[in-house]
Amino acid sequence: MRAVRLEALGALAMREIPRPTAGAGEILVRVLAAGICGSDRHMFRGEYPTGRPVTLGHEFCGVVEAVGASVTGFDGGELVTVDPNIACNACRACHEGRPNLCDNLLAIGVFRDGGFAEFVAVPALQAHLLPPGLDPVHGAFSEPLACCLHALDVARIVPGGSVAILGGGVIGLLMVQLARVAGAGEVFLVTRQEARRALAMELGATATVDPASGDVVASVRRMSGQGVDVVLECAGVPETLQQGLKMLRKGGTLVLFGVTPDGVAVPVRPFDLLVNEIRLEAAYLNPHTHARAAAMVASGVLELDRLVTHQVGLDAVAAIVGAPPQPGEIKVIVTP
Ligand code: NAP
Repeated sequence: MRAVRLEALGALAMREIPRPTAGAGEILVRVLAAGICGSDRHMFRGEYPTGRPVTLGHEFCGVVEAVGASVTGFDGGELVTVDPNIACNACRACHEGRPNLCDNLLAIGVFRDGGFAEFVAVPALQAHLLPPGLDPVHGAFSEPLACCLHALDVARIVPGGSVAILGGGVIGLLMVQLARVAGAGEVFLVTRQEARRALAMELGATATVDPASGDVVASVRRMSGQGVDVVLECAGVPETLQQGLKMLRKGGTLVLFGVTPDGVAVPVRPFDLLVNEIRLEAAYLNPHTHARAAAMVASGVLELDRLVTHQVGLDAVAAIVGAPPQPGEIKVIVTP
């Protein structure tokens, strides 16, 4: 079968490799759709640890092709989405119910073969059913959506509250929709590209801000009255963290979601955080949220088609992951 393999730092290529089989406790999934994530580019460049050689692809959806020994709940033919993060269930974080912080986390598409392939074998316990007939492209959004849902859980948006989302990539544009679904009365999106700001307005944002147009903090504070209740930092750049902390109302919450490169330091003013009782939270991966994300995708409540800017085959993946995002790119979906 064909698979896109990371073989060494910066060396990604489509290869012909043996089709995997479903071992005990596993299912074999025929991949129908897989999303390219910014993390795939980080892995390509060695900015995020991976196994090697390994087939990349951790956001995917497909049909159960074969069922291994001692698997219950699957007969074959079901449409599934797979939670890529396999926790050990033995370390302290796992015992505390925080599998995203597992000491031995082993992610599919990172440390074991993933979904940029025709087939992938996964532990059956990682798979979640999707309704038959659902567009597999929508199913492939379950993984990033699951991460966003964790951020929402942490943020505690209240109906009628105000939310600022910093960064209008696919994550920011999902967050805009989720904030509205959660009941936020005001949703501000800050991002540089005009087309994304326009799309955000169609997806439920109540206002947008171009960071190049002036003082972002003053703009958001002016529009929200006394500052926003919640900031979701989805850009992963130092200035958005600093801006986000300053645009909160007293007692507000900033959720750090964007990945800033390892080692980057960002000056903050602890006195301001203290006297305003700012809650600074982080949301990492998808603890216990994949099933909810699958249900949400299945419900059709989110607009996902507008986020897909490119659909490609396996042969195009290496060139796309090996290059920076093209202007206008929001989400690239691979259909093996
Ligand atoms: P992305 O496409 O890189 O989106 C981030 C966007 O932020 C950029 O496209 C850019 O859009 C915008 N941006 C950059 N500088 C900005 C600035 N100064 N002010 C405002 N906006 C700015 O990435 P994504 O896929 O949407 O993901 C967002 C972040 O979440 C990434 O860092 C990703 O690694 C991270 N992530 C975290 C988790 C987790 O579990 N915590 C899970 C998935 C992804 P414009 O060009 O329009 O400004």
